[in-house]
Amino acid sequence: MEWLVIIVTVVVLWVSSFFKLLHESLSASQVAVLTDGGVFCKRNVLLVIAHPDDESMFFTPTINYLSSRGCNLHILCMSTGNADGMGNVRKEELYLASVMLKVPQKQVKILDHPDLQDGFGKTWNSKLLSKIIKEEIANCDIDLVITFDNYGVSGHCNHCDVHQGVRELLQDTSHRAVEAWELVSSSLVSLPLVSTNILRKYSGPVDIWLSILSAKFHLRGVVHCLLNEHPRRSLAAMAQHKSQWVWFRKLFVCFSSYTYVNCLKKIN
Ligand SMILES: [Zn+2]
Repeated sequence: MEWLVIIVTVVVLWVSSFFKLLHESLSASQVAVLTDGGVFCKRNVLLVIAHPDDESMFFTPTINYLSSRGCNLHILCMSTGNADGMGNVRKEELYLASVMLKVPQKQVKILDHPDLQDGFGKTWNSKLLSKIIKEEIANCDIDLVITFDNYGVSGHCNHCDVHQGVRELLQDTSHRAVEAWELVSSSLVSLPLVSTNILRKYSGPVDIWLSILSAKFHLRGVVHCLLNEHPRRSLAAMAQHKSQWVWFRKLFVCFSSYTYVNCLKKIN
């Protein structure tokens, strides 16, 4: 009997969460932002990622929000993701995913720097990363940077290093006009009574309710939560990464809260 109650509750939560997302996508207005999202209406935005597929696995609510509001989104990918010798394939997959996400291919830059190679245990120098990001900001007239948080969202060391590279950039006083925002790990936007963060990370669309509560009551004005207006577009984008599109990633994309909501926090 208890199991039945749990199953019914989970089904009701999933269905109501999907209806919430559907409502937001149909209304196609500012309501997809749970708090004041005006800050993200700047013209030229740079998403800095570490590997091809990071954009589709973690950032699609943000990308969909920005592209549907006419922002000029650029993606800077710091490596080809060559840990398994598939760098050239993965590079092309990112271009294909960017088409799904309505990001012009000419605004996607993928580096293959000898000192920024994909892999656990490979440290990426924050000064080098900062220098590269700085050049991209100057070339594309960027006024807003979005990247991983300190934990690297998934905990991957390359993601953490990219975050440190953006922090290094912000130390430079000549870049005070550039704002930088980080994607907050689900496990870090916690409600006081919610300790089962791993459950939350894989709660799929259900996490939108906790994100609403976190943004409204605990981190007001600090965190902006963006609902994904086009979850199917996210799945289509991830499916372009054919070399990575194995069963456990399919499950990840369906159950990950990052497919349905992104909470962004300003980096000071
Ligand atoms: Zn990655």
